[in-house]
Amino acid sequence: MKFSDVIAQAETKKHLINMVKENRLSHALLFLNKPGSGGLPLARAFAQYLVCEKVNPSLTTNIHSGPSLFGDAEPMPEKIYPQDSCGECAACKKAAEMVHPDIHYTYPVVTLKNANRPPISSDYAVQWRNYMLENPYGNEFEWLQYIKAENRQGNITVNETEEIIKTMNLKSYESIYKIQIIWMPEALGTNGNRLLKLIEEPAPNSLFILVASNESKILPTILSRTQLIKIPALSNQEIAHELEARGLATKEKAMSVALMSDGDYFEALQLIQHTDGEQDQILRNWLNSILKTGPMAQTKVIDEIAKMGRERQKQFLQYFNHIIHQAIRIDTLGFDTASTAADFNTNELAEKMNRFSLAQKEAIVNELDKATYYIERNANAKIQFHALTIRLYYIFGNKSLILVD
Ligand SMILES: [Zn+2]
Repeated sequence: MKFSDVIAQAETKKHLINMVKENRLSHALLFLNKPGSGGLPLARAFAQYLVCEKVNPSLTTNIHSGPSLFGDAEPMPEKIYPQDSCGECAACKKAAEMVHPDIHYTYPVVTLKNANRPPISSDYAVQWRNYMLENPYGNEFEWLQYIKAENRQGNITVNETEEIIKTMNLKSYESIYKIQIIWMPEALGTNGNRLLKLIEEPAPNSLFILVASNESKILPTILSRTQLIKIPALSNQEIAHELEARGLATKEKAMSVALMSDGDYFEALQLIQHTDGEQDQILRNWLNSILKTGPMAQTKVIDEIAKMGRERQKQFLQYFNHIIHQAIRIDTLGFDTASTAADFNTNELAEKMNRFSLAQKEAIVNELDKATYYIERNANAKIQFHALTIRLYYIFGNKSLILVD
């Protein structure tokens, strides 16, 4: 993966290259990013940059060429650092295919069926490579679904930390650097303590890149030993531009999806696949059943939602959330200013939601967020949506005082 394959993030790319150029690359970096903003793609692109043969043509480049005829030291030949890896040398190709022997990956996994030991990341090496090549912006939840973790939590086990220690104490094979990328170090828990010594006194030319989303779930002892690089969320424009440039959506649809995706490019890709009008229709049926047609119709819609599968249920809630936010935008900015970016369908529905007060809309968003939280954690969809239906009924009727948290 080249830097140019990573969406936007120009500042971070420049910062990383400058660290190499100015010889101030630390042994351990922590990329902190919101899921879908590109932390892992940046780590992959940076690793490729470091092993690229064009970036580091040989080990001898910086070696002094000897005194001049007049005895004074000649200036060191200045090394020119390109803005990206070449993408064509053998090292780049291996890095891009995720088979470079000096770039190692650690990621959360679950116990293999019939295994008699805790799992290590390489138990899932084939799946990991396939998943990453297909979904460079993939998230932990999706990855765990991909390896059929179902409702189990992903872990980075003690056994895996031993693997890391072994690998990082070996010499590099083909490159100057030996790179260990740890995706979701949150999953290390206290096992992270086993890596402290290695991170503090690393082998020469070894580099750790930790890619995390939640700073508060990382051991303070790890945090204090890494250099923090905060990666900003992608803007709606950046996401929309990418979707349009890849021919995945028209300009209007790209912006509408970008607004819903909340800076998460992976989510935007998922939404593109599913905003086919079907969700819109289900949402209208559901709202009608709560406002007008009653329990029988509600049960029918909930049955339909329950069949969607968790990821689509989440997207459905997100779509509703987007409609409410769009309604608030229309309410505060006026229809024309607020609606330029969204398509006709969502605007029309959003306008209808403006029969509710701001307090009611805030209560709805709050309920949608809570429901998303439980759906992500495998709550029974039918029960969740029935409960949500009742809560919405009270909110719509402005009987919010009855709601108890
Ligand atoms: Zn190269």
